[in-house]
Formats: sequence, structure tokens, C-alpha cells
Amino acid sequence: MTPMHTETLPTSLPGHWLAPEDPGYDEARRIWNGMHDRRPALIARCRDTGEVSLALRHAAVTGLDVTVRGGGHNVAGTALADGAVLIDLGPLSDVEVDPVAGIALAGGGALLRDVDAATTPYGLACPAGVVSHTGLGGLALGGGYGWLARKWGLTCDHILAAEVVLADGTVVETDEDNHPELLWALRGGGGNFGIVTRFTLRLRPVGPVHHHVGVYPLDQAVQALAAYRGFAERQGPDLHAVGCLKFAGDQEWIPVALRGERALFLTATWFGDPAEGPSRTASLFADVRPAAELTRLLSYAELQALGDHGEPHGNRYFTKSCYLAELSPKEAEEFAGIALDMPSRLSSVDFEYLRGAITDVPDEESAFPSREAPYICTVSSQWTDPGQDAVNTDWPRRAIERLAPLSTGGAYVNYLQDEHAGRVREVYGAARHARLAAVKNTYDPGNVLHRNQNIPPTADEQHNRSKES
Ligand SMILES: Cc1cc2nc3c(=O)[nH]c(=O)nc-3n(C[C@H](O)[C@H](O)[C@H](O)COP(=O)(O)OP(=O)(O)OC[C@H]3O[C@@H](n4cnc5c(N)ncnc54)[C@H](O)[C@@H]3O)c2cc1C
Repeated sequence: MTPMHTETLPTSLPGHWLAPEDPGYDEARRIWNGMHDRRPALIARCRDTGEVSLALRHAAVTGLDVTVRGGGHNVAGTALADGAVLIDLGPLSDVEVDPVAGIALAGGGALLRDVDAATTPYGLACPAGVVSHTGLGGLALGGGYGWLARKWGLTCDHILAAEVVLADGTVVETDEDNHPELLWALRGGGGNFGIVTRFTLRLRPVGPVHHHVGVYPLDQAVQALAAYRGFAERQGPDLHAVGCLKFAGDQEWIPVALRGERALFLTATWFGDPAEGPSRTASLFADVRPAAELTRLLSYAELQALGDHGEPHGNRYFTKSCYLAELSPKEAEEFAGIALDMPSRLSSVDFEYLRGAITDVPDEESAFPSREAPYICTVSSQWTDPGQDAVNTDWPRRAIERLAPLSTGGAYVNYLQDEHAGRVREVYGAARHARLAAVKNTYDPGNVLHRNQNIPPTADEQHNRSKES
């Protein structure tokens, strides 16, 4: 552990850090979700671990609040607060690959595309999310679902070690032998326990993938969803099937009659031998025939970039999500009804069957909750006019209320928004939350890192253990 004390603070701050009066401040304070227009007191664009430590110590001395920005994608806007020190990890985006060991060292501010760009030339990847401009930091610390989750598990399952700047500015390295309880908490407990400046990630082999999409008119959705359920639940880990209800675009392969209409898109992606792909994915569409289909052989990098254009920076977003125990005709009818109420042409209802390798990791081995959840459903509004905020935030709320009786009760921590008090505890469950609070007691007893889905420290002395050495 490298001790860092406030008395070692330099007299001036790095010249590239930005105060409100500095040129570039407005550009630098922007995050992905245009709903969150906040003005930090200082933007500490951190170029190395020492600067992250300095920013934390500066905040402690000045009494300012702290926020942390990885890729700036958190829908709830946790990376930004008025009057706080924004610790911006953006410059810490380097990724180094050791193809023989099958690991990558990735900076805490790397985007998913930075990781993919470094790993895919070796035919390797770290399983992560489906939009390549998302930050690795927030995604991995909260879990990390993506195309490869059923085959290889969550992103957090691939964190082998990390360099972490603790709330008091000290720097620790955690792995299975050093600060193991901290490593456990980083695998799903969010940004509560320290600022990760470097992740050591396990990599997996990836090759070309067979990608098959079918589109249905909304009045066929309930029937097609029954076929989806039957298909998805009997697949092995090489097949990942997802669905989305949204307004159809005007791509060439989409029938003219469906363009601009509410539609159901089902997608089957095959990660096994590409030669087997067409036969493996076709049966999703065999019983209930779509209005049109598109099949492609994609490189892994192409697959990872497929979702990028649909989620541009600066638009306004609001998302609510839940896990579902099943996808029976009841859930299918609710999905179709929710889609009928979509308030904007950019809105969507996304769902996918999970399981596979996600459930291979024993539940107690990581902080991530709800591994066993069969389905996740995410209801997202996207719009541009602030005058439409009310209708666009209302729709996902009402949709998830409709689905609540069908939900497992859990939720994915990275999709939590403005939730009721106690929701974070509910999501982790009492026992896991208590263990996380004990880790918080050890590594951030003053709750400096609280601008997140917060796990506060407890006053419980039995958890108040001294730091592991
Ligand atoms: C367009 C889009 C697509 C998405 N797709 C997926 C998906 O496919 N799968 C999925 O699982 N999730 C997905 N998400 C959700 C995503 O996991 C969360 O939004 C996540 O918080 C994004 O991480 P970030 O670093 O970009 O966010 P930020 O807003 O930068 O950070 C969010 C919080 O994470 C913490 N944090 C970030 N980096 C660090 C770090 N290095 N050290 C310590 N704390 C840190 C901080 O507490 C911060 O407040 C998506 C989100 C968006 C907007």
C-alpha cells in the first residue's frame, strides 16, 4: 500500500484540470445522457493514478463532494454533480494485451471499444456490453451483460485483479491473494469501494459470429414471443437470443409497410462454428415466420459496434429495468401493450434470456446479485425536447410497474435510476448487502464515494475490521 497524506498536497493543481471559467469546461462536463446538465466545481482530468489520489485528497481538504466518471454512460448520471470534484478517468484509457497469458490491462477510463480494439487483433475479447462507447469502469463494476454473457459470463467475472485508489488517496492492488474481500466487492458492488485505475481482465477467444434478425408486425408479437421463449430456453451457451420492441427504421431489408411502425425484432447470434450458424439460428424463425429476415457473418468488432448509432451522446434518456421469472403469454401481452404506449420514436423495450455461463459462477463468489434471473427487461425512452421529459420518464416507470407482479423483484444495479430508499439493499439482498457494507466500512468508512448506487458503511462494530494487509 502506498501511503498518501493530505500534508503532501502540492501548492497548485495540474494545469489540465478545469474550473468553470476555463476554456473546454463545458465540453468536458458533458456526459452521455443529456438529461443531466450539472456544473462541477472542478474537473480533474486524471492522467495517472497519482492524479486520482491527488483529486481525492484535494476534495477532502476543500470539503468538496466527489464524483467519478468512467465512460460517462450511467443513465442516472451518477458521474456528475453540481459543485463536486469530477474525477474524470477518460485519459486513463490505455489497454495492453498479453495474448499468451490471455489477459488485458485496461485503464479505469477505457471505453469498451478501447478494449475491443486492443484485444480483437489477437482473436480475443473480454465479454462486455453491446454499445462500444460505454465505459468499462461502471459496466464492469456493476456486472456487465453482453453478447458473450451466456457463453463466458459477466464482465465482472473477468476481473482478475485491479489497482484501486481508496477514498483516502492510498493505492492498493487487489487480487485473489491481496485484499480478496475488496476484489469480491468490485465484482458487482459498483463504484463504492475505491476508484479503479487499472483492471486486469481475463480474455476469451472470439471468432466471426453468425447474426440473424427477424422483424414482425406488432400484432404478431405475442405469437412470436412464444416461439422466442421455446427457442431461447433450450439453447446451449453458444447461442444468444435477444428481442426488442421499437419503431422499425427504413433500412433496405425492412418491408416498406413496416417502416415507421411499431415492430418486434428478434435476434439469434451464434458464437460456435460459423458453418453451423445458419442452421442453429433459423429455428427461432421457423414456426412463426417474420415479415423479413437479415442474416450476416460479422467479426466480433462489427458485432460490438452494431448498437452504437442508436444511442448517440447528448440525447435525453430514461431507463427502467427488471428481471422476469419467465416469458409466458402474460408477459408477452404486457410487452405488446407497453409497446403500444411508446411515447417517442426512439423508445424501446428490450429483453433477453440470460442464464448460461452467468450461472456457472457460484453465487457467493462475487458481489453480483440475481445470477439466476432468467430474463431481463429494459424499458428505455430516448428523446431530444426537454418539453417532453414528463411523458418520456413516465412511460418506463409505468411499464415497470405493470411488469412488477411478474418480476423476480430484483434489478440490475447498472440500470437503477431514481429509486425509493432501500432499493439498493433490496437489489443486493440483506446478506450480500451486509457483506458489502462491511467492505465499505474497511475501505471507505466516510462514504466519500457515495455518488453511485450507494452502499453506505454501517456503524456495526463487528464489520469494522481493520484493512487487510
Ligand atoms: C448506451 C448504453 C448501453 C449500455 N449497454 C449495456 C450493456 O450492454 N450491458 C450492461 O451490462 N450495461 C449496459 N449499459 C449500462 C452501463 O453498464 C452503465 O451505464 C454503466 O454505469 C456505464 O459505465 P460508465 O463508466 O460509462 O459510466 P459512468 O457514468 O462514467 O460511471 C458510472 C458510475 O460507475 C462508477 N465508476 C465508473 N468507472 C469507475 C472506475 N474506474 N472506478 C470506480 N468507479 C467507477 C462510478 O460510481 C460512476 O458514478 C449501457 C448503458 C448505456 C448508456
